[in-house]
Amino acid sequence: MFEINYKKISELSELIKNINFQLNMLPGIEKAIDISDAKNKLTLYFYVDAICHQTQNFSGEIDGIYYKGWDYLLNSFIKEYKKDNDFISVDKMKKIKGEDLKRILNGSGDRYYERAKLLRNCAYILKRDFNSDIFEINRISEGYIKRENGLDMLKLFHKFKAYSDPLNKKTYLFLNIAKKVGFWKINDPENLWTPVDYHLERVTLRMGLVNLDDKIMTKLIENKSIPQTLDLKIREVVGDAVKKLSIDSKVEVEKIDQIFWSLGRSICFKDSPFCDGVNSENTTFQNITGINLKNGCPFRKICEAYKNIELRQIKESNVNTIYY
Ligand code: SF4
Repeated sequence: MFEINYKKISELSELIKNINFQLNMLPGIEKAIDISDAKNKLTLYFYVDAICHQTQNFSGEIDGIYYKGWDYLLNSFIKEYKKDNDFISVDKMKKIKGEDLKRILNGSGDRYYERAKLLRNCAYILKRDFNSDIFEINRISEGYIKRENGLDMLKLFHKFKAYSDPLNKKTYLFLNIAKKVGFWKINDPENLWTPVDYHLERVTLRMGLVNLDDKIMTKLIENKSIPQTLDLKIREVVGDAVKKLSIDSKVEVEKIDQIFWSLGRSICFKDSPFCDGVNSENTTFQNITGINLKNGCPFRKICEAYKNIELRQIKESNVNTIYY
């Protein structure tokens, strides 16, 4: 049905080793100055991450700067937090309603009631099981992402409805964020995997890191809706391919994630990639990698979709989900 394309991964791995990325990871996420600051920051990011799924409809200006998707959610929450520090307390978040969220997000986006319900559930579980302290997850797991005989971060995050994705997209994103913020112990970094979102899925498939059979390929090209079970299988292979690329290239998996994610937002667009260049100075890809895309996508040399124009129409899975 689909399988990892090891030959393509090896080609891309060699290419990545020869590109001079000047990585600025997770722009907008700040390092903490002490544990109390880390707790505040990670609590805020935990709630933003909880509603970070299918964010294509979120965009707008916040204090004169245009943001979209994740950045729009993040900056809207930061703005609210600056107005009211109590906004991220469990007692307040337990009561958040759809209309509150709509106000905070200035009417942009969608599914406020569903997202507010996820936030209330996060606050409820945080209070009930973790003493209202996000760092309790780190303490109980003893810094282990995965372990056989004990509670680990993946299992603990699964208690929150918003973080219940079998492939843990939001949890892995949280861990990448926590690594940057600091004070969050990770004892088994080898168990970091990638948060497989729709940009990463689309870019990985177009490059050809996963071979798809004709039936699935047609569904993705035609943007036909697919069942969640199939979506999970595709995303799992995509995540494994990215992890393998990280191992082969010796570039940490969260860095590959940022490179692919920003490529998807900046040039490898859903409807049509602009492989030969985009006329924009300020792309997310440039902010994260330091590479200007005016002269084209740096992966054209190995990209299957660059060689075969039909494959440029591959899109991420069309599925209604709260996972990513
Ligand atoms: S060459 Fe084109 S299709 Fe391939 S990854 Fe780059 S932008 Fe996407």
